[in-house]
Amino acid sequence: MHLKSSIYSLVSILSLATGACKSTQSSVESQASYGEKPCSIVIVGGGVAGLHTAYRLAPTQGENVCVFEKEERLGGRLYDLALSPEDEAAGRVIGNGGRRIMETQSILFQLAQELDIEYDTPKTGIDIIYARGKFGSNKDEFASLYPGLVYDRKKSDIETQLLTQIVESPLRKSIDTYADFASYAKAVVGEAGFQYLHDMSRFRGDFEYPLSAKGYVDFLAEELNVCCQTYYPKGGMTAFPKKMAAKARSYGVRIFTGEPVLAIDRALGGYQIRTSKRFVDAKRLVIAVPPDGFRKISGDVAQDIQAMEQFQSLIGVRVTVINQWFAKPWWKELKNKDGQGIWRTYTTSDPKKPDSRCINFTEIPPEKYAEPMNVIRTVYNDQAECAEFWSKLDEAHDDQQRDRLLHEGLTKMFGNNGVTPAVSIPSPIRTTYWEWPDGWYWVRKGSRFSNQDIADWAKQPIPGEPIGLVSEGYNPQRSSWSDGAYKSSLNLLKAQYGYVQP
Ligand SMILES: Cc1cc2nc3c(=O)[nH]c(=O)nc-3n(C[C@H](O)[C@H](O)[C@H](O)COP(=O)(O)OP(=O)(O)OC[C@H]3O[C@@H](n4cnc5c(N)ncnc54)[C@H](O)[C@@H]3O)c2cc1C
Repeated sequence: MHLKSSIYSLVSILSLATGACKSTQSSVESQASYGEKPCSIVIVGGGVAGLHTAYRLAPTQGENVCVFEKEERLGGRLYDLALSPEDEAAGRVIGNGGRRIMETQSILFQLAQELDIEYDTPKTGIDIIYARGKFGSNKDEFASLYPGLVYDRKKSDIETQLLTQIVESPLRKSIDTYADFASYAKAVVGEAGFQYLHDMSRFRGDFEYPLSAKGYVDFLAEELNVCCQTYYPKGGMTAFPKKMAAKARSYGVRIFTGEPVLAIDRALGGYQIRTSKRFVDAKRLVIAVPPDGFRKISGDVAQDIQAMEQFQSLIGVRVTVINQWFAKPWWKELKNKDGQGIWRTYTTSDPKKPDSRCINFTEIPPEKYAEPMNVIRTVYNDQAECAEFWSKLDEAHDDQQRDRLLHEGLTKMFGNNGVTPAVSIPSPIRTTYWEWPDGWYWVRKGSRFSNQDIADWAKQPIPGEPIGLVSEGYNPQRSSWSDGAYKSSLNLLKAQYGYVQP
């Protein structure tokens, strides 16, 4: 992961990202110097899956539970940024990772109630889309640009029509005979339908990565029912990990940050965990590190799991997030003819000019707590070619070029789109760049495992051993949502610890 600021330094935020690196180099202390009560249950990873597991175990297991987190901060892929410490204290943050929960994700509302987390339910504005040389704010307006597209002309919402066909097609009965999701989808909705879906989706990676047809379509069948109102937790999504950690600690759970686990081995009577600072003995293990991070952990237990076919079936998607703060909210003036403001824009087309296309998904935060910050998520992009494009600029430390391209992209989308009045884009006062090497996980093409098989396997990957894997990464049925991480944790808690969510 990289985090950089183009104009002002983000020292406070940077320190979070570099802490882990330093601690991996620090010397390993002996078991004896640990000098504390033993940790009989070790949880590796302090993202929401690990912290939720700790939080649920806390009332009965308390100080038996130890959590080891690589970074100085908790929350993993929930990671909120603030412009200043004052903003952070006031909860004026923007997410580098997760930002919202949806009306149908009841598990999160129950948790929010338990943890006393409030949320905004803002009215959102319109989308502006650019595809095949045309601007519009309704996806249906683009249908004529995709010759051969078949859909019911008497009904609106062509995108949902096509996705529903993919889910409900009789071909789904033989879905395992298709090499990947792309070939199955093309068989159902045709090449034009597939291209239309690719261009109209904010998540292009779904149509580009080599995904298992069954895995993705099973996900889609559930995802089509995820709707409607978006909820933005006050103080950002990190309100969840922060509050779960505080409650777990209040029961005696020990949470160690800036302390990566380096190796997990079997030992007499259980397991030995080597962190950057010590050896720890444990009787039971919860591995709450998704595949990307888990691959870097050595030791016989880790290697046994990594060698399993189920583990190797998982594929991560690289995601770029670029946030920009401005002196003034220039987007506020932008309204369409009906007086609606803008929520999001997405770009496609110009295949020979990835720079203008790679702005892709821009989001103007509608939640009230973000409003005073004058911040937008300028880029949120999982398209493989674009993630690569931004990553190369980052590696080259070419901030000037990057800022110029961001400016060009925003100017293209807001300069003269025919939907809202033209506006000239001012220079930002801060730009942050962040790359999630594996932002979310799917089952890869060629795997013989379904999403459900992976979730079942993760509850106890090595038969007979008290080890569980929890994370969104081990629950591809809910890929890219934090409720996938919570559900994965609940699966393990039920299977191995007898905890059942009331
Ligand atoms: C860009 C983006 C946008 C998203 N938007 C949303 C959204 O709007 N709503 C939503 O609900 N979800 C969203 N998600 C998904 C959500 O963020 C994740 O599903 C969720 O945070 C995953 O939690 P996790 O605990 O499974 O994994 P992670 O958050 O990845 O946690 C794993 C933890 O393990 C730690 N770790 C790694 N290696 C080690 C080691 N060796 N030792 C110790 N610790 C280690 C990591 O540092 C990390 O803290 C988004 C994700 C991304 C990337």
